[in-house]
Amino acid sequence: MRVGCPKEIKNHEYRVGLTPGSVREYVAHGHEVLVETGAGAGIGADDNAYRAAGATVAKTAADVFAKSDMIVKVKEPQPNEWVQLRDGQILYTYLHLAPDPEQTKGLLASGVTAVAYETVTDDRGGLPLLAPMSEVAGRLSIQAGATALQKANGGRGVLLGGVPGVLPGKVTVLGGGVVGLHAAKMAVGLGADVTIIDRSIPRLRHLDDIFAGRVHTRYSTVEALEEECFSADIVVGAVLIPGAAAPKLVTREMLSGMKKGSVLVDVAIDQGGCFETSHATTHAEPTYEVDGVIHYCVANMPGAVPVTSAHALNNATLHHGLQLADKGLKALVDDHHLRNGLNVHKGKITNRAVAEALGYEM
Ligand code: NAD
Repeated sequence: MRVGCPKEIKNHEYRVGLTPGSVREYVAHGHEVLVETGAGAGIGADDNAYRAAGATVAKTAADVFAKSDMIVKVKEPQPNEWVQLRDGQILYTYLHLAPDPEQTKGLLASGVTAVAYETVTDDRGGLPLLAPMSEVAGRLSIQAGATALQKANGGRGVLLGGVPGVLPGKVTVLGGGVVGLHAAKMAVGLGADVTIIDRSIPRLRHLDDIFAGRVHTRYSTVEALEEECFSADIVVGAVLIPGAAAPKLVTREMLSGMKKGSVLVDVAIDQGGCFETSHATTHAEPTYEVDGVIHYCVANMPGAVPVTSAHALNNATLHHGLQLADKGLKALVDDHHLRNGLNVHKGKITNRAVAEALGYEM
């Protein structure tokens, strides 16, 4: 099969669908790989790195779309990309169709077979192609929060690890899933005093086990939320109710009980945010202040670290990508987890949640 990787064109997207390392794997499986010139520039991989890995470098995206049997990307196709997709071609990328009727119409009209990273499942009920970005965002949340906590950046001027003779800073993590776990790891690593709040007792048990006494865990009640937010220097919002908007766990009223210059990092902002006063920000202007509390609400946090993010994403997507390249559509028949990723096929929506969200028949 000929596998194509165009350069990402969404604003401020620096990741790439195939790293040179992934190209080598496709080539080793007997596939041809066509990569648009400059596709890896955002992660420091130039055209020669791709040639060395066995790819052919194409001058234009149009060339990649026209000549490839399968397109591997990162972000959902943009309008001038979806018009280049066609019947019989496979698209393998993040799609997030539910809130995007225009893109859905474009993909349906193209006839493409579109497999969405975010709906591929695994045996443990997880979303393995989404998890690496939650790992990145979780780890980054503490870096971002610690920076915002510095006086010159508007924060209250606390060093998370403290120093001998001075207490460490306090970090409260709301939601102990993938983001929350990785936020807690970084905060513990910096020497902070960390509390994780979750509404799942089995999850709290698991976190208590793996952190072996180095974090406090609390069941999610209004009382626990107030106590832990009012005493925190950083609060990380990392809750998720699958398919629903994030619950507003911290209300505007609660801000008045928080320390001046403390920091809210709302990682759940892509689901609407879990603080009432959150609104999405960008890497160019990541923070703003409400009632003396600094808010960091960047919706695409992994975009700040594209080198790490692109490699983590490729690690997660490579196996299924190779299956699609090796077997074509039969890969979807053979593996029900990969089939859960199938969102659109020959002008029809094939994922129930997406169809219901957009009001299509299945
Ligand atoms: P996850 O499903 O692994 O974890 C969510 C956790 O929230 C679960 O443990 C659940 O029990 C807990 N929870 C749900 N309701 C709660 C409540 N009322 N009180 C306390 N805990 C509650 O999800 P995840 O992968 O960790 O993702 C968390 C959020 O981060 C999602 O909204 C995700 O989309 C977002 N995210 C954002 C970025 C970004 O760049 N901003 C990147 C990756 C992920």
